[in-house]
Order: sequence, then structure tokens, then C-alpha cells
Amino acid sequence: MKIRLIDPAYEHPFIGHSQRVIKRIWFAHLTLTTLAALTPSDIDVRITDENVEPIDFDEEVDLVGVTGMIIHASRAYEIAHRFRERGVPVVMGGPHASSLPLEAKQHVDAVVRGEAEKVWTDLIRDFQHGSLKPFYRADDYCSMEGLPPPRLDLLKKDAYMTINCVQTTRGCPYSCDYCHVTHFFGKTYRCRPLNEVITEVNRLEGNFLVFIDDNIAGNRQYAKEFFTQLKPLKKQWAGQASITIARDPELLRLAADSGCVSLFIGMESLSAANLESVKKSFNRPGQFEDAIKALHDFDIMILAGFIFGLDYDDEGVFERTLRFCERNRIELPSFFLLTPLPGTPLFQRMESEERLLHQDWKQYNGATVVFRPKLMTEETLQQGFNWVCKEGYSLNSIFKRVIHPQQRFFTRLLSNIAYRSITQRSPESAVPSLSRILQRMNDTIPVRNTRDLIQRAGEKITERKQAIGQRAADTLRLYSLYNERLKTLLVRLEGSIDLEGSKELARRLKGALDARIQRITLDFNDVKAFSSEAMALLARQGFLQREEKGLLVAINAPDPTH
Ligand code: SF4
Repeated sequence: MKIRLIDPAYEHPFIGHSQRVIKRIWFAHLTLTTLAALTPSDIDVRITDENVEPIDFDEEVDLVGVTGMIIHASRAYEIAHRFRERGVPVVMGGPHASSLPLEAKQHVDAVVRGEAEKVWTDLIRDFQHGSLKPFYRADDYCSMEGLPPPRLDLLKKDAYMTINCVQTTRGCPYSCDYCHVTHFFGKTYRCRPLNEVITEVNRLEGNFLVFIDDNIAGNRQYAKEFFTQLKPLKKQWAGQASITIARDPELLRLAADSGCVSLFIGMESLSAANLESVKKSFNRPGQFEDAIKALHDFDIMILAGFIFGLDYDDEGVFERTLRFCERNRIELPSFFLLTPLPGTPLFQRMESEERLLHQDWKQYNGATVVFRPKLMTEETLQQGFNWVCKEGYSLNSIFKRVIHPQQRFFTRLLSNIAYRSITQRSPESAVPSLSRILQRMNDTIPVRNTRDLIQRAGEKITERKQAIGQRAADTLRLYSLYNERLKTLLVRLEGSIDLEGSKELARRLKGALDARIQRITLDFNDVKAFSSEAMALLARQGFLQREEKGLLVAINAPDPTH
């Protein structure tokens, strides 16, 4: 009996991975090599990764297995149709088929839901007895003990950056709204016995490997012990972790000592409100810069994921995020559009709010807008995304991010050149027109006459004395968000306003007036102190109107006469 397991090609509107790029940045997946390892030894099992070699649709084969996420779904179905036309049965598993088994079943003979390890040998036995069932579902999650080493020998060795891929844990302790990991693996975080992992790593050729865990430091104690045992093997490795790894100096030092050279970290957004809205508030934007510095101090290269289109993103988000990456020398920023994956809480929310534009899975690729964003139009979101992909890998931006007296400069540069060859194929696009205005609006305005201000401030001073005593009110911070749909600029003020500050504020607000801004709403709720001159100036210039009719609307504004 012969089984062909297939990883369908990654299809994308403008990202095509040439073999040269795959060789530089791509590593093999473990799903099919693990299933191959579980296949009874009297069966001839082969693997085709369509990303690196073509599928032989005329091959004499008894059973075909395809896997894939949502971006692979259309291609997986096409592959299934081609084999089934010839009478070859096809089974499908992976996150997409697990989320939408009834849909998948329309295209294949059998669907595997959840982790396939637990049902794979039953499925093969049923097939051999002519009694293949339409659905297979593991009743619980697979044990991480005694997993056979993946059949890396079945992969096209020289086609990838590396085929040395190892898994130490499965799942993630967090459950971000948009992520498939917790949906697929449940609220479990399972760790393999360390001796088995170390044996597997020891067996690999070469000194570089990739840990494909979704969060290699999800269990700090386990990770610390693992890194300690890994160190004597003198390997270099790349992996993926949540940013919480950088908050534990001992953990980070152990990771670096064990050979960690790069980490993919999902930062996602510079807005705390955004992160909260998708249940990722363990990411704290105020601590990002320190975390990045801590990683760089250990010479760990950062691949940072950012998502655009979250509910508090306005059209300034693209430039704001890119400048952050440049300022902090993030070596490889990865930009994605928010994509509601079926089965996730985000998908359910978008569906109930009627914000999904369609369910054409081919376009659920992380680079095409498939939902209605809150603060901007679909067109602006797509435009800004195309711009940031291209601009983020312009030579100018690359040099800002990689030029630094650090080790492995050439590795950083060459990885950027490989990413550039991908992203430069994104459509030409300009930065959204209000972006510059929004960048300027959000700068901090220093307060100059704090002493006078404190003496003259109104009743809020008494209420918030402590905050002022801690110099929390020495600056005026502006947080602005533009709602393109309502053509409204929402400006939240925080800190204190003195006369100079009010002049600067008025100047910036006037500078922000644009044909596209039909209303500016100023929220004074978090102003801790103000001087009466400052408020009088704002009142004279028309910034304190409380009427909904005007161009300017102030909410929670203090009375300037107090
Ligand atoms: S931390 Fe990462 S892997 Fe874990 S649930 Fe959130 S997005 Fe998914």
C-alpha cells in the first residue's frame, strides 16, 4: 500500500515564494513528517510539500492525505478533486478541516478533526478493510510522551533553510481571540519529556535548528530546565515566544546561553486598547521598548508580528508602527491584516456584528481585507497595509533597522533582502493621507510653568493632588484616533495644560483640520490640572464648545472661570 501526504502550496495574491527565498527563510512543517512516522512500517509513505516541489497527479497511489490552514483550503480542495477524479481516495486534516469539517467533507472522502496522531492508525486500518469513515475525531489531546521522531528523511532536504525542526511543547497558555492555536489544541499546554527532546535534538545533523512551538516559553520552569539541558549541545536555534519571555531576565539569559539567535514575537499592536480588545493584554506596549532592548542585549534577532485592522487602528497606525520598528531596530517586522479564522472567537464576533465581507477563504490570507474595520474604510486599510509592507522593506527602512554595531550583521541584512524580495511585489500604494497629521497630533507637549499651574489649577487639583505630586501632570499627552467612517478626530488629553501647552494644543488642532475631518472631539476627562489662562485661550479659540453641532466638541471640559 502506498500513501502520499501533501502540504498544499501557500497561495497569496502578491506573495510568491521563489525557491531561492524559501531556501533562505522557510523551514519544514512537522505535521506530515509526524504522521509518516506513525504510519505502519509495511506501508510506503511519501511526502510532497508543494511549496518546494510539484505534485505528481498521475502517481499510482492508494490514499492521499492533505493538510492545511485556511490559506491552503482552496488549493487543498483542488488537489483532492484531481486525485478523486482518478478514483484515489483523499483524507484531509489540519486546522481548517477541523474548524469546518462539513465543508471539507464535500471535497474529500474522510475528514480528521483535531490532532491526527490519535486516529491516524485507526484510519489506515479502516481504509485497508474498506470501511473508511467520513469523520475521525480524537476524543482528547494526544500525549506528548513517546512521540516518534518525525520522518525528516522524507523531506527535500536542500529546499529549505533547514529541515531540523523540533517541537517541545504544544498549545499556548493564552487564548488570544484571533488565534487558532488555543482553538485547535484546546486550553492545554503540553510539554514533551525533556530527555526525549534532548535525544531528538542530539540526533540532528548540523548545528542550527528551529523549535516550531507556538510559545516556547509558555511554562517558565519547563523552559528554564530545557534551556539548561540544551546548552551543552552547542546548537543555535530560532523559535517563537510571547513577549513575556523578556520580562524574566534569568529565562532570557538561559535561552541565549542555550543558543537562541532569533525569536518570532507577536507584538501585534502598539495600542493597549487594541490588545485588550483581542484578549492579549499581557502584551504591554509601554514595556515593548525595554523588552526589545533586553532581547538585543543578548543579540537575539527579533521577528515581530504586527496586525493591522484592529478596532482601535486608525489610518495613522501604519506609519506609527513602522517608525516604532525603525526606532527600535526590529530586524524583521512581519505585517499581517487582521483575519478572522473560522472557529475563533474573533470570527464569531465579526459574524455577529455582520462585519465579514464574504467567506471566500482564498482571500483569508492575512494580506487581503475580508472584514469591515471600525475606524477606517476597507480601502484605506488595504492601502495602508500595502504601503507598510513595501515601505517597511525599502532599503532606507532596512538600513535603519539593521545598521548597528552588533554581531551577525550580515545574517540580519541577508534575511531582510530575502523578505524584501517578497514584499516588494505588493501593489504600489501611498501612505494614507491623514497619517502625518495623526503622527504629529500624538506627540507629548511639555508643560513649562508647572509651579504656577499647580497653584492656579482648579478644583481637580485637590482631587488629584497625589498624581500631580508625582509629576504625572508635567506634560500634556495627546492620544488621537481618527474615525474615517464618522470623519471625526477623537482627541483624548492626559496630564496638565498650561498657557504654553494650550497654545501648542490649539496649533496642533488647527493643523489637524482637514477637509476630511468634519469634527474634532476633545476629551478632557484625564486632564489632572489646568491653568485658567490656558482654558480661557482654548475657549476664545472655540475649542471648548459643548454643542454637538459644531466642528469642535469638548467633553468633560473644566470650567475656565474656576
Ligand atoms: S500568545 Fe500567540 S500562540 Fe498564544 S494564543 Fe496568543 S497569538 Fe496564539
